Parts: sequence; C-alpha cells; structure tokens
Amino acid sequence: MCASMIELRSDSFTKPCTTMRLAMAEAEVGDDQYGEDPTVRQLETSACALLHFEAGVFLPSGTQANLVALLSHCERGDEYIAGQESHILKWEGGGGAIFGGIQPQSVPADHSGTIDFNALVSAIKPAGVFFPRTRLLCLEDTFWGNALPLDYLAQFLALAKTRGLLAHLDGARLFNAAVRQGVPPSRIAAEFDSVSVCLSKGLGAPAGSLLLSSEQTIRAARRWRKLLGGAMRQSGVLAAAGLFALRNNIERLAEDHKKAAVLLECLSELPAFEVLHQSLPTNMVLFRLRRGSPEAFVERMATSGVRILHTDPMRLVFHKDVSWEQTSRVVEVMRNIADAG
Ligand SMILES: *Cc1c(COP(=O)(O)O)cnc(C)c1O
Repeated sequence: MCASMIELRSDSFTKPCTTMRLAMAEAEVGDDQYGEDPTVRQLETSACALLHFEAGVFLPSGTQANLVALLSHCERGDEYIAGQESHILKWEGGGGAIFGGIQPQSVPADHSGTIDFNALVSAIKPAGVFFPRTRLLCLEDTFWGNALPLDYLAQFLALAKTRGLLAHLDGARLFNAAVRQGVPPSRIAAEFDSVSVCLSKGLGAPAGSLLLSSEQTIRAARRWRKLLGGAMRQSGVLAAAGLFALRNNIERLAEDHKKAAVLLECLSELPAFEVLHQSLPTNMVLFRLRRGSPEAFVERMATSGVRILHTDPMRLVFHKDVSWEQTSRVVEVMRNIADAG
C-alpha cells in the first residue's frame, strides 16, 4: 500500500491545518453550559449573521444537529417527510423515532436530490384520528454533491407554507451549494425554519456543527442538546476551528469543485464507467461500473493508492487535502484500471 493514500472516501477526512490548530490553541474559553464560552458564542453569532437566522447552537456533530432539529420541531406521533436516500432519514440511525417517537416518512428523490412534488403532496397526511400529524418537511443541500436549484428551493418552501408545515434544511454542505451558485449562503438557507451546517466536512474543522433557527426553537434545541449528552464545557477550542473555517475556508471550496469537474470530464470519456450527471455538481463525482465487480474495483483502487467507498452509485469526494497532482494521479489510475478491463 502507498505511503500517502489519496483519500476520496469523504470530505469528512479533511484534517485541521496548522493555522487552524493555532487558532484552537489560542481560543478564549469558558463553561459553555453556563453560556460563558466567548468563542462558542462568537461562532453562533457569526453563523447567524452569515445565514440570517435569529439564533444558533453549536453541537458536536451533524447527526446531533439534525436530531435536535427533529426533536425541537416535532412531538410524539408527529411525522417528518424526507427523501428516501436523505442523510437524516437513512444514515442517522432513526434517532427521531428512538428519542422522540417521531415517524419518518420517506418519499422518492432522484440522484440530484430533488423530491417529486406530487409524491411529497400525497405523503402529507390529512388531519384526523387515524393519521400521524405531518409536521415537518426536510431537504438536503447539497445532496450527493449536487446543489439544489434556487427555484426548486422556493417551490419547496412555498409548498411547506401553503400546507402549514415547517421546513428543515440539512445543509451539511450548504456552503458548497452557495459557492457553486455564486450566491450568499443566506440566499439558500434563510427562508427555512431551521438549518444544520457541518464545519467538519469540506470546511476542514475537526468537529462541530451548528443548528440555526428562531430564538424559541433554539431554546428548545439547547435543552435537547443537553438531554442527548451533547452540551460541552470549554468547547471554544472546537468553536475556534469552526470560526476559522467560516472565515477562511468557504471560498476555497470552489477549488474542490474544479477538481471534481476535471475528473468528471475524464471519466465521461472512459466507456468502463457510467457517470451520473447532475444539474449543479460540486465536490463529488458519481459513477457506476459498466462491468466487473465493485468490490474488486475498490480493492484495485486501494492497491493503486486511492481510497474510495463501496457505495451505489460510487462516489469520489474532493476536498482541501487532495492536491491537483493527486487529482491527475486519480485520472491515471482509473484510466489504467479501465484499460486493463
Ligand atoms: C455528514 C452529514 C451529516 C452528519 O454529520 P456528522 O457530523 O457526520 O454526524 C448530515 N447530513 C449530511 C448530508 C452529511 O453529509
């Protein structure tokens, strides 16, 4: 195995850079459970300003941010609706059902992350003793690396509003979407009732997520964070990394998108791979093999020094710790594997 593997499994593998670590070392801290960590407060305030929300809370992970959102918006017997492949519904252990008695309802969504509105409307339950109370609609942006078109977001929010439903955005990679579309991140998030964002994906912080919403919802969220064991003490050390990420690492996401675009173009020319095209791709390349076993392919990639996950579709995830040189190397490796058949 190569000494320096090229890591394309996820942008969650990004490591904090030296200057981020310095900011962490120098952070002013206090006990955040008493509201006395100035760096955590600064991070929450900065995120609210950036995304145009009233209030925000810093949490250890994106999973907890989404779970706290569900618990803050819904009661036992309520229901949330989300795309069948969405992270909140499929990849977070069913926490809403476990901790809140909240029923998940999945609806079909395509590989670009758009949920069909007819399916969405027919999944909304009418009022009455028979039915769970539909309370919340969830969307994910970016989804599988695709930014959702702004007019789609507007239609989704209008639908939620006419039906009297709340709307939550899983914006783990919201900043990728904003950079891709050349709009301020508030343009994407501000009209949702809540948004979660990850600092530990492409933004490069070692840990941390934020949930932003109204004052009232965030008051409830702080209580749920405590109950779930996610309230921390001198977490300013982590918040400092998040602040650094918001200040320094958003615009550079464009670089990751460029690398992914180069790879997408090269793969499209190789008949061994079926590339899945999306409308607004960011830092991921999705593809399937036209022949051969995916397990063997993942293994051959690994022995050539490239780590990828075995998912369907397969995906290559670009991030700040993948250089241009490594990007070219990935193209070369995939070309060789394709030629070998
Ligand atoms: C990573 C991710 C999360 C969860 O974040 P963790 O910090 O890994 O718990 C939620 N939603 C999406 C879309 C993600 O990619």
